[in-house]
Amino acid sequence: MSADNLRDTQAELRKLYDELCALGLSLDITRGKPAPDQLDLSNGLLGLPGEDDYLDAAGTDTRNYGGIAGLKELREIFGELLGVDAANLIAFGNSSLTLMHDVTVAALLHGTPDSERPWAKEDTVKFLCPAPGYDRHFAITESFGIEMITVPMNPDGPDVAAITELVAADPSIKGLWVVPTYSNPTGVTFSADVTKALLAVPAAAADFRIYWDNAYAVHTLVEAPPVPHPVLEWAAEAGHPNRVYVLGSTSKITFAGAGVAFFGSSADNLAWFTKHLGISTIGPDKVNQLRHVRFFGDADGVRAHMAKHRELLAPKFALVLDILDDRLGDAKVADWSHPEGGYFINLDVLDGAAKRTIELAKNAGIALTAAGSTYPYKQDPRDHNIRLAPTYPGIDDLRTAMEGVATCVLLAATETLLTTHTD
Ligand code: PMP
Repeated sequence: MSADNLRDTQAELRKLYDELCALGLSLDITRGKPAPDQLDLSNGLLGLPGEDDYLDAAGTDTRNYGGIAGLKELREIFGELLGVDAANLIAFGNSSLTLMHDVTVAALLHGTPDSERPWAKEDTVKFLCPAPGYDRHFAITESFGIEMITVPMNPDGPDVAAITELVAADPSIKGLWVVPTYSNPTGVTFSADVTKALLAVPAAAADFRIYWDNAYAVHTLVEAPPVPHPVLEWAAEAGHPNRVYVLGSTSKITFAGAGVAFFGSSADNLAWFTKHLGISTIGPDKVNQLRHVRFFGDADGVRAHMAKHRELLAPKFALVLDILDDRLGDAKVADWSHPEGGYFINLDVLDGAAKRTIELAKNAGIALTAAGSTYPYKQDPRDHNIRLAPTYPGIDDLRTAMEGVATCVLLAATETLLTTHTD
């Protein structure tokens, strides 16, 4: 387009944008929260386990203290879904994020079973952060002063060559954050090759850990989710039995604030971590765990339940993709993901246009995830990535919000193009 054409287009978009602002909207597509109708799917939990039902399969009274590993029958159900033996999985608390936080604290204060000293006694501790990634992972490492190094994401997982080079050379690199299935926010699912390579990478630090956050293991938008890679087995085969922490939860399966979280790892790591967890509590909420056992019955019960989520979510994702196609398809000023599961659509706008797009949307009453959130230190070096979270709003609000977002993307693009235009 010539500069004159661009200016004409911009004037038309400005008009559309002014009309958008005049609607006085107040819409929010910032966070990946389940919508109320999704939460309703699990209302059966509210009446479980029932007044006379409090013994687990082994006859343990779930109302009492104890049992730091959590109920075996629940670990069996979610072990199958996460690709982890129940013996290597604990069910604990209501938040996997808490477990990621606490296992990091334990490493900082006490060192892992493979550490020479507590991480906090090292001069520097670094984590690798495939980006775009999950902002709350980055918030944990940032809050402890752990240095974050961005590594690129590819369509089949993080850039293994970059990771191999960094990890082999630098013993201060102690961790790697990953979301292996329907990744937040890219929707990428890691291939078996990438997974095996990550588990086999020769690391300068004996206590290098992969935080395998399988938060979306069963959250599919297609017929079935991918079969989970047996990462603990593969890590052991690669000679690194203690390398992986598998994480997951029922947060986006049942109730986001009242579910059950899971942590899977080698026997050594589990003994170490439960020893430290056991200082802070005498045991998890086993009644909630029993409730979940009764509600699902088995892993197929979880799969059937996820099919109901899919019925509610698939139309929302389809709507967002249709609007993006329809409004942005021809303009070639943005790219976006077509996820088969998870909670997000990843939108890449022109370099230098993400902050402005988000600002325009905000001024029109549409809250988008803050610019840069998907990168360590909230710094998107190209200022191009926007995370869209279509799950929470109702379908009409979502349509209005996305039409507005499309207008903002286009308007911001004309501004960016005009500042760099050489006619
Ligand atoms: N991991 C990822 C990748 C997530 O996207 C989320 C939720 N947004 C969480 C963890 C949070 O999980 P939990 O509710 O179990 O703390």
